[in-house]
Amino acid sequence: MARKIAAGNWKMNGLGADLAELETLAGRSGDAAEVVICPPATLISRAVAKAGSVAIGGQDCHAAETGAHTGDVSALMLKEAGAGFVITGHSERRADHGESDADVAAKTEAAWAPGLTAIVCIGESLEEREGGRTLEVVGSQLAGSLPAGATPQNTVIAYEPIWAIGTGKVPSLEEIAEVHAFMREKLSARFEGGAEMALLYGGSVKPGNAAEIFGVPHVNGALVGGASLKASDFGGIIDALNAA
Ligand code: PEP
Repeated sequence: MARKIAAGNWKMNGLGADLAELETLAGRSGDAAEVVICPPATLISRAVAKAGSVAIGGQDCHAAETGAHTGDVSALMLKEAGAGFVITGHSERRADHGESDADVAAKTEAAWAPGLTAIVCIGESLEEREGGRTLEVVGSQLAGSLPAGATPQNTVIAYEPIWAIGTGKVPSLEEIAEVHAFMREKLSARFEGGAEMALLYGGSVKPGNAAEIFGVPHVNGALVGGASLKASDFGGIIDALNAA
């Protein structure tokens, strides 16, 4: 069975006062799902101190462990700060920093070295979807962004259609089902543990649509941006995942 994971990506949002939201989540009990919050790097240490059973993750890491890379953060630094996860290949990093599948694979491998679980993001643009190329794009990103050593313990996949991120637009349940079944088939064919690797959906997940999305076969959780900033919203998503 795949892990059930509700992961929140705070992006470039959050100051010390916002850790009160994390404290509210940390006060929950009895969650069957794993709950992860990825705050900005500046908050990771303070977040870990308040997180309780909530795991903390980074939003990116460099492929190297140390070196002359001004402004970057290594996986080992995240691990030392108390993180257990790191997002790699988010579409905003692919777009803003020109990250290729090969870069994402290198970062993912780097994440594993100190023992982080990588949340590897893939997903098509609107143009690619409208051109009927979704499965081709997802297949090629999946193949190129995952190193050979991926296991259900060290890797989680997040399918995030770029056009659904922060837009309020969500693919139909059939469209989500098609991509998730496709990813499961590809992962099972390539990796020994591919049948158990957690597959998250991401893109405008809210408390109001989470339950139906979690009812789709091979959806094992969500990567959530906007709705992870408030514990009341994210708590509703976690409740839906616990019940799925
Ligand atoms: C994301 O940034 O990964 C994301 C899914 O954002 P949102 O939930 O705001 O669409």
